Amino acid sequence: MSAAKQILALNRFDGDDTAFLPPDLAERVIRRRATFGAASVLFYEQPIEMVRGEGVYLFDAAGNRYLDMYNNVPSVGHCHPAVASAIAAQAARLNVHTRYLNRGVEAYAERLLSHFPAPLSNLVMTCTGSESNDLAMRIASAVTGKGGFVVTRAAYHGNTTAVTAISPSAFSAAPLQPHVRLIPAPQEAGDVAGVFAAHLRAAIAELEESGIGFAALVVDSIFSSDGIFADPPGFLQTALNAVHEAGGLIIADEVQPGFGRTGAGIWGFTRHGIVPDIVTMGKPMGNGFPMGGVVTQPDYLAHFCAATGYFNTFGGNPVAAAAGNAVLDVITEECLIDNAALSGDFLKQGLLELKKEFPRIGGVRGAGLFIGLDFINPETGAPDQPYASNIINAMKQHHILIGAAGLYGHTLKIRPPLCFNIGHGTLFLETLRRVLAGG
Ligand code: PMP
Repeated sequence: MSAAKQILALNRFDGDDTAFLPPDLAERVIRRRATFGAASVLFYEQPIEMVRGEGVYLFDAAGNRYLDMYNNVPSVGHCHPAVASAIAAQAARLNVHTRYLNRGVEAYAERLLSHFPAPLSNLVMTCTGSESNDLAMRIASAVTGKGGFVVTRAAYHGNTTAVTAISPSAFSAAPLQPHVRLIPAPQEAGDVAGVFAAHLRAAIAELEESGIGFAALVVDSIFSSDGIFADPPGFLQTALNAVHEAGGLIIADEVQPGFGRTGAGIWGFTRHGIVPDIVTMGKPMGNGFPMGGVVTQPDYLAHFCAATGYFNTFGGNPVAAAAGNAVLDVITEECLIDNAALSGDFLKQGLLELKKEFPRIGGVRGAGLFIGLDFINPETGAPDQPYASNIINAMKQHHILIGAAGLYGHTLKIRPPLCFNIGHGTLFLETLRRVLAGG
């Protein structure tokens, strides 16, 4: 079986190998490496310098236009004019820390919360998805009095100390900590709900037996870094029941599926018909403006705050609120949730057609504009990560940007901005066919 892959290693430029780059690019990379050191991660065998974005496109320094199939941060479109002007106008008027009354901030909180089911009626604003998950873990431990967390085997939930411990796709060498249990990602077919819940129950039992106890299941409802597992809708209900029977909480990490991506409502958990105990948000929330949030029920937050309180200097500042508000406007005005469903369906059908033609394509899965496509060895069915890397680099030659995911890094992660349309889909499918055919 192929080796498991660290998420940051996927499609990564090898920082030491500059000899084959054009001299000006090599110099840029060496200078960057000198300042950013080992934490500098660049994509592609030949890194790209981006200078501008618009809608689903990015433009490099030489003026080349790339179709962005990968980027869920500028979720309503790169440099969306409505979001950019809302940020600029608010930055020119007032931007302070979060301890003053501010109508814009308060109205945004009310508006965002109106998209959540009862009893999720309190919002804490943060600056990143990592901060959101860190806080969610603290709330879960405070409420349950327990310290154990269950996550999927290739999950990614962020970069703080606590959140890295529950992000197995982020560490290659570090041992798993005793308060964390990993369960396999949902299977593709069969009794998806039952098998997932059985693994979960076993992990919960282990945590309880260890004396650490079970605080929460942290789950990304589209299982992005595990390789995208969306179906059947509703399968998380059984997991939720198992969590609650054990006295734990479910933290829905909406950093990836949230804000309309699945085409089935604004949140990924909506597709599963569940009401989580805590919801965390990030990247698409501000379309590139750094903002995140945690939504939970008031008694949970009160319980947590009674012990420690919470203050975030930048989280929920007036500029963030302006960005977030503009994002919600654009999602509504441009019907982006319906568009995600329609364009995503077109894309998925097209990929299923390609699968008939190319035996190296394995599973094709997803919801809305979040689709995973596995590359396999056609003889053995084993994951083929090197082939996925070749395709990613070849697509870049054709000016299409795309990344990989999954435990073995063999899954194309197809996740364009939500303004992606059928025309963009046709361009992507035609190019992928050419690349798969070796053209
Ligand atoms: N949760 C998920 C599911 C993510 O994909 C990410 C980022 N890739 C995070 C949390 C962390 O978000 P951030 O990088 O904004 O801290």
